[in-house]
Amino acid sequence: MAQLTSNPTIPIIDFAPFVTGIPIVQQEIAEQISRACREVGFFYLCNHNIPQSLIDLVFEQMQALFALPFEKKSQFAWSDEVSNRGYVGIERERLDPSQPGDLKEAFNLGKEEAIGQSALTMHRGLEDLEGFQPVLLQFWQACSEEMLRILQAFAIALSLPKDFFTPLHDEYDNILRLLHYPPLTQFLKPGQIRAGAHSDYGSLTLLFQDEIGGLEVQTVGGEWIDAVPIPGTLLVNIGDLMQRWTNDNFRSTLHRVGVPPTEKQSQHRYSIAYFCHPNPKSAIACLPSCQSGQHPPQYPPILAGDYLLSRLQATY
Ligand code: CA
Repeated sequence: MAQLTSNPTIPIIDFAPFVTGIPIVQQEIAEQISRACREVGFFYLCNHNIPQSLIDLVFEQMQALFALPFEKKSQFAWSDEVSNRGYVGIERERLDPSQPGDLKEAFNLGKEEAIGQSALTMHRGLEDLEGFQPVLLQFWQACSEEMLRILQAFAIALSLPKDFFTPLHDEYDNILRLLHYPPLTQFLKPGQIRAGAHSDYGSLTLLFQDEIGGLEVQTVGGEWIDAVPIPGTLLVNIGDLMQRWTNDNFRSTLHRVGVPPTEKQSQHRYSIAYFCHPNPKSAIACLPSCQSGQHPPQYPPILAGDYLLSRLQATY
């Protein structure tokens, strides 16, 4: 396929300097992140703040979880878009609503509404999985803290007060999604892949992949490029609400998980996505630094919760 874009590469950004808190250093990292958000909508972070040992434990836990019998997993079946929690079976979801169901299964976890961040739903009934709850809780907290750091970088890049996004995300209405792509043993329907082309819905997504690969990202020019797994990094991408907030300056990019080459089709793929959402009652309206006479606001304001619901309703 022709090279249609000037810079289709997903950059690797070293996040360690940002944590120093030194303004001039933070500004430099924020600019690197901003460039990536404008050009591809995806970037890798190395030297991030989520321990690899913890990520490894989550992968172990999710392998045990998905290995449970279907009947057991079905006890936690996803039931509605409002809670958006629970088990989603193979072919249940169509991330590209024009195509057959996705060849994946997933568990969505979220905070326990009554208790706050100190607990996750979905663990009740999973007591047989030793360590599941403490490992996932620790991971959830590490991801939510990293989300706030990345949002600080966004704010700096957008000429906003550094903590602009923090109070707009302090309800932690996030979804931690464990994903399993089983070996492809059945005939594929026309157009069927592991996860259909879609953009994410919220502010940003943190993605952790195993070494199997398959994630593809669409460039500005419409070309699909591989977002290869890079050990020690975490992959970050922009969601639709951040694109709306920034008046299309930051790109919420289409991505998908394709069917692997024949020799790899017998392998399982696992990934973890941490979807960061603004507080449901936050009005997402064009930021002052993202509009001008030449570039007026492209979208009417919308409540974050309403937008999320409308997107979920389209995919189930
Ligand atoms: Ca996604």
